[in-house]
Order: sequence, then C-alpha cells, then structure tokens
Amino acid sequence: MELVFDGHNDVLLRLWRSRANGTDPVAEFRNGTSEGHIDGPRAKAGGLAGGLCAIYIPSTGGDFVLKEPDEKGHYATPLEAPLQRQPSLDIALDMASIALRLDRAGAWRLCRSTAEIRRAMEEGIFAAVMHMEGCEAIDDDLDALETFHAAGLRSLGPVWSRNNIFGHGVPFAFPMSPDTGPGLTDLGFELVKACNRMGILVDLAHITEKGFWDVAKVSDQPLIASHSNAHALTPVARNLTDKQLDAIRESRGLVGLNYAVTMLRDDARDDAKTPLSDMIRHIDHLVNRMGIDCVALGSDFDGATVPADIADAAGNQKLVAALKAAGYADEELKKICRENWLRVLASAWHE
Ligand SMILES: [Zn+2]
Repeated sequence: MELVFDGHNDVLLRLWRSRANGTDPVAEFRNGTSEGHIDGPRAKAGGLAGGLCAIYIPSTGGDFVLKEPDEKGHYATPLEAPLQRQPSLDIALDMASIALRLDRAGAWRLCRSTAEIRRAMEEGIFAAVMHMEGCEAIDDDLDALETFHAAGLRSLGPVWSRNNIFGHGVPFAFPMSPDTGPGLTDLGFELVKACNRMGILVDLAHITEKGFWDVAKVSDQPLIASHSNAHALTPVARNLTDKQLDAIRESRGLVGLNYAVTMLRDDARDDAKTPLSDMIRHIDHLVNRMGIDCVALGSDFDGATVPADIADAAGNQKLVAALKAAGYADEELKKICRENWLRVLASAWHE
C-alpha cells in the first residue's frame, strides 16, 4: 500500500455539522460512520495517512449548489455573497476546537511540522494539518491569524470562491477562464507577507488568475494549488491554465489532483459515474507540464462528488493502482502520494 498525504479535505465541516446534530465528532471520526468520505477506519483502509483539513465557513443561505447546465451543458454558478466576520469567527473557532479535541483524544494527530507528520504516519495515526479555506474569520489587523497559528493553523487560502477583505475568488463555471476579476486587495498582500513570515502555507486554489499572479509576485514560498486540475482538459474557472502550471513548476510548488468530478470530466458535470481514466489524464497532463516533483493529490473528500469507483477514503488505493497500471514507477508514486507535499510544507514552514 502507498500511503497518501492529501492536500485537501472538508472532514471538519462534516464533523461540525454532525456535532450540531448531537453526534460526538471524536466518536464519529474514531469509530467510523457511513456519512461522507473520511473517518479513522476508512482512512486506514485506504492508506489515507493524513492531509490538510480545512476550516471552511459555509454560506448562510444554505448548502452550496451548482447552477443547472443549459442545453449546451454550460453553467455559471454566481459567486456566493461575502460573509460577515462575526458568525464566521465563531464557526472557525468551533472547527479548530474539533481539530484540537480529536488530537487530545488521540483520534488523530494535529501536526505542526513534517517530522510530526512522518511520525504520525509511521505510528498509523491520521496526520492532520489545520488549513483555512477562505479567511472570513481573520480580521484586518491579522490578530486572529496569530491566535489560529497558535492553535495549529499552518496553511490557508486567502479566499474560497467568494470575495472577502483579502481578495477575489473564481466562480464555479463551465466553460470559463480563471481570469474572472481582481486579485488580492492591499490587505491580501499583507496577509501573504504575514504568512511568509510566520511559516503558514499560502494556497492558490479558488483564487482568481489575477490573484494567483499577485501572490506569485510577493510570496517567497513555492506556489501551491492544493486541490485543482488542468484547465486545458476541463475548462472550469477553478482549474489552472498551462501558464499557471509553468509558474508553479518554476517555483518548485505543486498541484494536488482534485477528485471532484466537475473538475475532472470533459463535460464538467456533477456525475459520480466518472471513470478513473479521467483522473489519470489530468495527472498525466500535470506531470507532462510540470514534472513528477510538482504533482500531488488533493482529494476534496467530504467537499465534493468523487468518482463512484473511489467512493470514499477507503477507495483511495484504487487511484494508486490505476496510476501504477498507467506506468508510474514506485519512486514516482511515492512523490505523488506524499513526498511532494512534505517537501513543499517543509519549505513553507521554514524547516
Ligand atoms: Zn475547495
């Protein structure tokens, strides 16, 4: 089995919702559930040894839904409305506390260094890294950034697909270029510089193309898109153009393959009947464009519809097997599955 350290999941969102329904998140993760994609037993079964676990603030208007495609199969879901800071901060604190409680109970290990990640993986304990997907919970003085860093935050995306005080996100739309509007705000530049200083990884998934180039201009870290795919194959605004991939390669960063079927399929439809070959062709394109050192995994488990053949974390090794069958050598699989992530985290974290 090839152990996987994965660049993006939304298990904290699911556990937060379970808690609101009266379920103990520690018990749900430790004992397993039929809900969603990730829990301890399923992660172990599928060799999902750890990953970046997102604090994500759901929209106030209810669950996010993609707009129905028109007769050509095109769709353009409008951006979600910006959120107020106050309820966002409460939710972010709740999700951080769930991450800390799981750590305290030994249900997973909340890691702050790559040495801690490697140790947890060796011990067979899920290695979680606290990530923030959209910084609605952070104030304009960046005081909350200090607090969340102290609580274990080691990675953030300035924006989700929604505008905030730090920058502008891309909508979920097909076909569409990622060049959909402005990039970082002045505060966004300050946030990126603070992340550079503090050793917090800056994630470029969900940001506009302008925002991508803004970060590239000021950040001293490798450029990372934790859960994105190739725009040349699936032209949704969330995927990366070849020009962006070239910049990621030059910075020795990485792209984590997103298992979301809307970002893998030719037609960008939300249909779980999506063959593993769609995942392989995206990996092939990323490897051809950037080399084996810049390609990794970023499942989006618990945040998106994934191919039915994978189904959940327990099915993760089916992708590894498909990559093997497609000709990837063991050394290459090791890099895709975990070593590339560990290399860029070590760099961003000043190790
Ligand atoms: Zn996302």
